[in-house]
Amino acid sequence: MTAAMGFTGGVLDRAPHLRADEAALAEARRHPQARFLVLDRLKPVLVRGEDRLQWASAAAGGQDLVVFLGLDAAGVPHFAMEGDAEQAGGVAVDARAAGARLPAWEGAAVALARSLIDWHRRHGFCAACGAPTRMARGGFLRRCPACGAEHFPRVDPVVIMLAERDGHALVGRQPGFPPGFFSALAGFVEPGESVEEAVARELREEAGIGVRAVRYVASQPWPFPSSLMIGVLAAAEGFELRPDFEELEELRWVSRLECLAALDGRGDWRAPPPLAIAHWLLRAWVEGLGD
Ligand SMILES: [Zn+2]
Repeated sequence: MTAAMGFTGGVLDRAPHLRADEAALAEARRHPQARFLVLDRLKPVLVRGEDRLQWASAAAGGQDLVVFLGLDAAGVPHFAMEGDAEQAGGVAVDARAAGARLPAWEGAAVALARSLIDWHRRHGFCAACGAPTRMARGGFLRRCPACGAEHFPRVDPVVIMLAERDGHALVGRQPGFPPGFFSALAGFVEPGESVEEAVARELREEAGIGVRAVRYVASQPWPFPSSLMIGVLAAAEGFELRPDFEELEELRWVSRLECLAALDGRGDWRAPPPLAIAHWLLRAWVEGLGD
C-alpha cells in the first residue's frame, strides 16, 4: 500500500492543445507505444497478482468511447477505454482498493478515467434539447449537433472538515460506517456558496456548532463519480453539540493523543485509511496545523 493520499500525484501532461486537434489525437491513438487504461464496468484492470495497471497496447475494435488522459515524460500518449478484464489479460479491481494499491500516478490516471468515462455513459443526451450528443476534445466535451450546446464534464465540490477547539477535534460516524469507524464531517457545496459558507452551514446542520475561521489544508479528486474533496480545519465557537441524527449516528470530540492512536490503528475508534483525505486532515491537525 502506498502511504500517499489516494488519486493524487498524477504525472501525465494533459496536453490540452492535443484535445482540440482531432487529427493529432487520431495519430496519437496510432502511436506505436500508445497505452490504454482499461475500465471493466468502471473498475480498473490490474496485472493479476500485482499492484500496477494492466495497460492495453491498442484500443479494442469498435471501441468508440476512448478518452485522452495525457502524455508521459517521453511523449507517449495514454488513453482510457471501457473493456473486459479477461480479454485485457488482467483482473478488475474495485477503484477504491486500486487507489490504495497503485503507484500514485496510476491512481491519479484511474481517477481521471473513471470520472470521465462514467460522465460520458450518463450524458449521452443534450440537457438543453434532448438530442443525442457526441464526444469531442478527447473526452473533455460533448457537443450537441442539434442545438449546438456544449457540455463539459462536471466536478462536484465537497467540503470535508475538522472542527477543532482547545486541542480537540470533532469526528462523526454515519449509520453505514463499519463498526467503530469515525471520520471528518463532509457535505456538498451548494450553488451560491463559498467554501467557507458551506463549511459553516454543514457544521451548523450536522453538529449544531458555529465556526469562527476556516483554513484550507488540501484537496483530493474522489472519482465516485466526480467529487473534489476540499479539506479544511474550522475553529469551533464552542464544545456544545446538537447533532443531526438523521445524517449522523454519533459525534465525538477527540484529543490529539486519541486521534494519533486511531491513525496508528491502536485507538478505541477507527480512523480513515491513508487513501482518504480525512486521514491526512486528521494527521495535519495532530501534527499541529490549526494551532
Ligand atoms: Zn441540444
